[in-house]
Amino acid sequence: MERWQRLLQQSIITPSKLAQLFKLTEVEITQIKRVISTYPMRINPYYLSLIKEKGDPIWKQAVPDISELNDAYGLDDPLCEEEQSPVPNLTHRYPDRVLFLVSNRCAMYCRFCTRKRKVGRKFVVNKETIQKGLEYIKRHTEIRDVLLSGGDPLLLTDAELEPILNALRKIRHVEIIRIGTRVPCTLPHRITGKLCQMLKRYHPLYVNTHFNHPAEITKQSAQACERLVNAGIPVGCQTVLLKGVNDDVATMKTLMQKLVKIRVKPYYLYQTDLTRGTSHFRTQVEKGLEIVKGLRGFTSGLCVPHYIIDAPGGGGKIPLLPDYFIKKDEKGWWLKNYKGQTFIYPNPGYEHLVNDNKETDPWVNL
Ligand code: SF4
Repeated sequence: MERWQRLLQQSIITPSKLAQLFKLTEVEITQIKRVISTYPMRINPYYLSLIKEKGDPIWKQAVPDISELNDAYGLDDPLCEEEQSPVPNLTHRYPDRVLFLVSNRCAMYCRFCTRKRKVGRKFVVNKETIQKGLEYIKRHTEIRDVLLSGGDPLLLTDAELEPILNALRKIRHVEIIRIGTRVPCTLPHRITGKLCQMLKRYHPLYVNTHFNHPAEITKQSAQACERLVNAGIPVGCQTVLLKGVNDDVATMKTLMQKLVKIRVKPYYLYQTDLTRGTSHFRTQVEKGLEIVKGLRGFTSGLCVPHYIIDAPGGGGKIPLLPDYFIKKDEKGWWLKNYKGQTFIYPNPGYEHLVNDNKETDPWVNL
């Protein structure tokens, strides 16, 4: 058994150890027990070691909260993944790519998970569903990009994962394989040299990982990401905007800068989905726009993810931008920069507007 598997086996799944470590009250213990009878808990020893105190941003992501059971409006499947699944565990929403779930386990059950209806629960992944998914991909020649997800595909052993990658690589129209995984953050020991050696046989292969808070970037998680990058695997990160965890510009800026430092490209910042049991994490959309505005221009564009709402009802990802566009007229496009100053990008024939204004004023005032 490998070290990551031993760590996983030592995960806490009941509140007793938490109670000892963090001096929980009887009421808190009872509440956690109630929540985990519906939504399971798993906190492996590594992620547990990142919790510094009760209620901190790491705690909030990992420890069940009674609010999970008091969510009147959430939906089991807010993105309508099941409706858009022609075969079990495969969602075909966009023209040229599919989401293919190949594992039902994770190294930690995140309290805000969009697939709360599935992870660690009745979600069935087995050889048969994987085979059906592969056959579907083979039949659909328009699919050029396959995103393996779950659960976490990297909770499969190398011996379980490799035949899936191998089968995908044999399908000529599949150009890109992506793996969506949170283990570089939640159980970095899983990113072994042996795994990276195996993954690099299946290029072009990308990894999308998931960090939400600067405290998740540790020596171990940095090493895991660097190991992947050193195997020639581009690593991107998705982050979920979570109330009480990362809903301020300073935290998000530190996170994004630290990610880039460990050679991980911030890719998406997601507005929280309307998943049942997660509404206590939701912020106003204005908060996300404020954060993006506080990043853009104030730090390198490399550190700025796309801010996305995954449309409820299965509409797919919709990008949102703060208001940099003011108006468009016959002269050109009137735009605002990160400092709130106004500029024109002229239409052909109106270039003099830029020069005229440059001589008198570095920016054009409306
Ligand atoms: S690792 Fe991903 S799929 Fe698993 S519980 Fe966390 S957010 Fe959900």
